Amino acid sequence: MHLTTASAGAATGLLAGPWIRAAVFRLSVPPGAPDRTACPRCGSRLRSASACRCPSCRERVTLPCGATEIASAAVLGTIAGTVGPRPELIAFAWLAVLCIALATIDLIVYRLPDQLTLPAYPVIAALLAGAALLNSEPDRFLRAVLAGIALAAGYLVLALIRPGDLGLGDVKLAGPLGMVLGWAGWQSVLLGTALSFVLCGLAGAVLLAVRRADARTALPLGPFMVCATFVVLLVTPGQ
Ligand SMILES: [Zn+2]
Repeated sequence: MHLTTASAGAATGLLAGPWIRAAVFRLSVPPGAPDRTACPRCGSRLRSASACRCPSCRERVTLPCGATEIASAAVLGTIAGTVGPRPELIAFAWLAVLCIALATIDLIVYRLPDQLTLPAYPVIAALLAGAALLNSEPDRFLRAVLAGIALAAGYLVLALIRPGDLGLGDVKLAGPLGMVLGWAGWQSVLLGTALSFVLCGLAGAVLLAVRRADARTALPLGPFMVCATFVVLLVTPGQ
């Protein structure tokens, strides 16, 4: 465990908390609906999307205050402490912040908005290219790009074969996740993909067992893809 890097990661996570809360507030709307800007209770326009409570009616408008800060500090602290002060840490941390917002939105409204998934392609590619340059590991960058393309293509095939099980949002999320998994290695790509479906299946089985779901209940896949990716990255950071 790299303690100094872990502390820096946790501090960065705290600072990212308001951004995550704002993204969840703005984008937790049905597909096609405009971004949310007003209090869902009284309709007054919020000055800041990262506000926890509406200034007019004092109602909580989004996730509890502090929740996103604590979650992202814990996640980024763990990732930074495990990966250590390596150039690729910036790519992993940036993607983790984005994925906390994406997984939360997917749990609330069952969608992974393009506003968050699409920018991840150029940003993760650029951050990993920079890391590859600094580490003198061009082959690693190439593998990351190939893995991103392969995973997105694989998910696209699955979405076309079984449209009920996963959507195009999952396909678009698969690319950047595939890139960081590919950076760690092909084994990590396979492991991360398999674990996504295993975790989703387990969650479905648990919900069935406690009668919180029936056989027709659809679970969002995004949160499981995110969890699986970061678990695999932490176990096999590719060092
Ligand atoms: Zn209000």
